[in-house]
Amino acid sequence: MIDKLEPVVVDEDLAEARAEAQDAWDEYVDSVPSIDNTRPRNVLDLYQEFTPTTAIYDTDVEVPYLVALLASEAGEVAGKYQKLVRKHGVTDPANTDVETYMTFVYDVQYEMGDVLWALSQLHNYFSLSMTDTLALNREKLRGRQERNVIDGSGDFR
Ligand SMILES: [Mg+2]
Repeated sequence: MIDKLEPVVVDEDLAEARAEAQDAWDEYVDSVPSIDNTRPRNVLDLYQEFTPTTAIYDTDVEVPYLVALLASEAGEVAGKYQKLVRKHGVTDPANTDVETYMTFVYDVQYEMGDVLWALSQLHNYFSLSMTDTLALNREKLRGRQERNVIDGSGDFR
């Protein structure tokens, strides 16, 4: 039988690495002009506070569970579109009747909510703010617009 390893040292290293990463991240976030750290709480903050109250997974597997959930729920959005194409033979939901269109839009919105739930919990796990993520993404896209590279490829352009 293999003796269990003492995890204490590993945990301290992990905690220290996390604290360093958090400090570096905070410094980066502070350097982004569109992030206002003094703003009042908004609807995204309230949503991030709400989602843990409905989380029922094992926290030992939190990140892999949430990443799989995120991909799964995004797949459910795509699945609604796939079923629209299969059932109605159209690529644009606007080319269906009103009832089909409204059902499609409602179903997609419902699944996008599940995508947001997974994203909220991932943000919570990493102590990130969804509002900051929106600001960072806006900043990135504005930068690409200004440099006229929005149509290119590569994560860091
Ligand atoms: Mg779903």
